[in-house]
Order: sequence, then structure tokens, then C-alpha cells
Amino acid sequence: MTFRTRFAPSPTGPLHLGHAFSALTAFDMARDARGEFLLRIDDIDQSRARPEWDTQIQDDLTWLGLTWDAPIWRQSDHFADYRAAIETLSARGLTYPCSCSRRDIEAAASAPQEGLPAFGPDGRIYPGTCRGRPMSDWTEGQAIRLDLSRAIATVDLPSFTETGPTHQGLHEVTKDHLLTQIGDPVLARPHMAASYHLSVVLDDANQAITHVIRGEDLFEASFLQRFLQQLLGLPAPIYHHHPLIRDETGKRLAKRDDARAIATYREAGATPAEIRQKIGL
Ligand code: GLU
Repeated sequence: MTFRTRFAPSPTGPLHLGHAFSALTAFDMARDARGEFLLRIDDIDQSRARPEWDTQIQDDLTWLGLTWDAPIWRQSDHFADYRAAIETLSARGLTYPCSCSRRDIEAAASAPQEGLPAFGPDGRIYPGTCRGRPMSDWTEGQAIRLDLSRAIATVDLPSFTETGPTHQGLHEVTKDHLLTQIGDPVLARPHMAASYHLSVVLDDANQAITHVIRGEDLFEASFLQRFLQQLLGLPAPIYHHHPLIRDETGKRLAKRDDARAIATYREAGATPAEIRQKIGL
């Protein structure tokens, strides 16, 4: 099987040093494995995606020396696939409409038991207010959630292999982990075709991604994504979460730190080799 990985930026801002590190790490690993590197534009959130950023991302990546082995995959071209997956899950009785606002969720969420988190990879752990509502109630302005405990009862729980330095090993996706650390995830946000977690597992499968290489901030998300793959009968990629790039003071680079934008370094006359050096590659 050909090693195939991807870099999946959202076109909602400039690429910064952290993105460059992620893209170059994935690209280098693919090259070392004589595999393929793909570019996916995560423009699922059409209210925030901008074509100018899409163009700038391609331009910055090309300048860094990256090439991709297939045409760019844009999530906005695949809304029908995401909807079809949600319909399949709904037909299996595993989804429900959710009209809770962020504030409703805050108000309904009780203080978590000691040692348990209030937030998981899908935001605040959902207290279950709308669980059990029929899909016939759903309207465009509402979210669609997965009824996790029902879903768990329909499949064997999976595991995933992680090769990144911090969490290397085999990770079991347990019922307890899913229910207490993640909670019923959103499959589609209001007025959006799908959530990030659902779209990413479908795209990874459709692009035949064998290795998901990305930042450590998404390690916890892999438990949910691996579960969604199992639920939808999709293959399991190997995961590799790399450490995050930090600034001189040890602070994690924010996604929106424009001072670290690749474009800013380019304007100041930096070379791609200097960028690689700056991020320790
Ligand atoms: N668009 C997502 C991000 O930039 C992609 C995450 C992933 O690689 O799965 O965080």
C-alpha cells in the first residue's frame, strides 16, 4: 500500500510557521517513504473561507518547495458525500437534531465529576438536552448530533496506532473515554454541510490517506475520528501527531499570529531554507 498523507489547512487566514512545520513534516515523511503528499483545503465553513487565502496558501506552500501528487481536494466540492453519510447514520437511528445554543449548553452542563474534563475535542461535553428528539423535527437552522451511547452499542470499539513522539503506541477507543471525555459530537452545524470531525474522516477515506500527520493539539480528536471511521465502515489510517511549534518564550503559536505568517517572512526576504531552519527542520 502506498504511503499517502495530506496537509489540510482551512482557508481562513495566512499560513504561519506552525502550518509550515506541519506541511513540511508530512511532505518529508511522504518523500522518505516514497509515498504521496496531498493538499486538502478545509473550506467546510463557508462563512469563514476566503478564496484569497486559498490562493495564498497554495502560493506559500509552492514557495516552500512543496508539490502535491493529486489535484487539490476542496471540502466544498463534497457536501453531498457528507450529507449522505449523515443520512445513513440517521437511517440507523443514531442521530438527533439539536437546537441548543452555546449558552444553553453552558447553562445545562453540570460541573464535571472530579478528574473529568468539561471540554473535549468537540467542545464542551454535551449534556444531552436534545438527545432523543426525532430527526423529523430537524430544520436547517439546527445542528445534528450523534447519539454516542446508541452508536457505541452497534459496533466493536476500535483502536488506533500512533507513531508521534508524545503518544506513541496503540490506543484503545473505549466507551468510557468516548462518553466522559467527548460526549455526543456534532455531525453538522446549523447551515453547514458537516462538522470538521465528520468531513475529515470521510475525506481521509475518500483520498485513501494511510497516514494522518498533524499537530499534537488534535491527538484527542483521533479517538472520536477513529470511532466515526468504525461506525461508517471506513479504513483506519495510522496517526502521527507532531509537537507544536512554540515561540521564543515557549508559548504555542496561535493560529492567528500574523506576525509569524509565512508571507511576512517572505516579504522580509527570508528564504525557504531559513524557514526550515527556524522551525528546526
Ligand atoms: N483544517 C484542520 C486544521 O487546520 C485540519 C486538521 C487535520 O489535519 O485533521 O486544524
